[in-house]
Amino acid sequence: MPQNYRHTKVIFTVGPATDDEEILEELIRSGANVCRFNMAHASHEGIKKTITRIRRASQKIGRQIALLMDVKGPEIRTGDLEAPLELKEGDLVDFVRESSVKGKAGIPQVSVNYPKLIEDLKVGDDLLVDSGLIRMKVVVSEEKFVRCQVITPGKMGNRRHINLPGVHVDLPSLTEKDKADVIFGIEQDFDFFALSFVREAADIELLRNFLLENESKAKIIAKIEDQTAIRNLEPIVKASDGLMVARGDLGIECPFEELPVIQKRAIKLCIENFKPAIVATHMLESMITAPIPTRAEVTDVSNAVLERADCIMLSGETTVGKYPLECIKVLNRIVRRMEQTVKSKPAESVSLETPAEKMLRSAASLAQEIDNSGLVVFTRTLRYPLLLSALRSSKIPIYAFTDDEVLYRQMQMVWGINPFFMIYTQDREESIQTALHILKSKKWVEEGDRLVVITNVLARSKVVESIQLRRIE
Ligand code: PEP
Repeated sequence: MPQNYRHTKVIFTVGPATDDEEILEELIRSGANVCRFNMAHASHEGIKKTITRIRRASQKIGRQIALLMDVKGPEIRTGDLEAPLELKEGDLVDFVRESSVKGKAGIPQVSVNYPKLIEDLKVGDDLLVDSGLIRMKVVVSEEKFVRCQVITPGKMGNRRHINLPGVHVDLPSLTEKDKADVIFGIEQDFDFFALSFVREAADIELLRNFLLENESKAKIIAKIEDQTAIRNLEPIVKASDGLMVARGDLGIECPFEELPVIQKRAIKLCIENFKPAIVATHMLESMITAPIPTRAEVTDVSNAVLERADCIMLSGETTVGKYPLECIKVLNRIVRRMEQTVKSKPAESVSLETPAEKMLRSAASLAQEIDNSGLVVFTRTLRYPLLLSALRSSKIPIYAFTDDEVLYRQMQMVWGINPFFMIYTQDREESIQTALHILKSKKWVEEGDRLVVITNVLARSKVVESIQLRRIE
């Protein structure tokens, strides 16, 4: 395999630490595949400028990366406080719809933007504030407030994020802000929209219809963040174009020891359904402030690689971290080393339906038998690259060529696929020659290497699916 090839892809989140043309160029040069914009923080004007920087840098390097908009989705937050609350263990707090409601003297009142909070919570339920840092339990539920007792103390400021583990939150899956963001994202040619707090397949359908109405070819990534999503995992995977295991919220909404179980199941389901799986959050968290990862982080990243996730994602590490470029380099090192240790034949468990699809497994086997080989595939639909990827055949690169710029960028998210844009010609042989020439000129292959090419040929005007062995001249 070429030395700098990796099957597992890298997503980074852009933020103040990376929103600079030189840094973006270095990140792309170092192998970043997808740039994520977190709509909880980004402004439209800022995003436009960042995209211009990314496109200029990509142009210089000769490789486009994909753009992923992470849509904020429904979110419960506390309101404004006169002053932050220093909460100690055993303290009581009343959560109310509006702060004007009078509570019992001495008990602070905190308003919440979710009108059905009081209806939905019952005595004994957990309420977590600030990404789970402050843990409380409901001790009283009345018509106008729920009273919570502090279990894990902390300081509560304004507009803090609230999690209600196990509670089915009755909020729209696509808010008005989300719709405005998606429209903007379509105008800016985003390749993926990740929908936060997906609870069921219908949430995906809603966004799907919205994209269709607005003539977008973007793909949808379902962010799995709570227990309802876990219960509906299979239909969500089938309805979406990919999945993000959003371990930040998931680790608050579910018992944390469930996280590895969920991650493993989600990746397996995605592979079976030919959908990319992203493992997100805290991959290299300590590198926000330190130049090297902890041993546990190295092992966590390795685990995602061994589970055969399509992508690993960086968040705070590249938005506010001190070492964004080092993070990509660290991921490169771990991923390449781990991929060397994996020996896997094209998976028999992946169900390929038509005879032509079954041929893909033979093509992958053949490529594995030959030294320094790889697969070449041409696509206008993504179908064959996704199937070849799902076979998870170790040690063979999959070079996928397309004449569709959107598909070209979308393939950046798929395990094992090295995508290329090229203009097809009517003459199939000419297209193959152009593809082989691109691979040689970009130094992915050398003279004498043999590649397995999956292509149609014309035989007496009939189209025949074929596998060909081609030597690089
Ligand atoms: C997460 O919760 O892990 C996540 C990726 O979502 P966000 O960063 O939007 O909270």
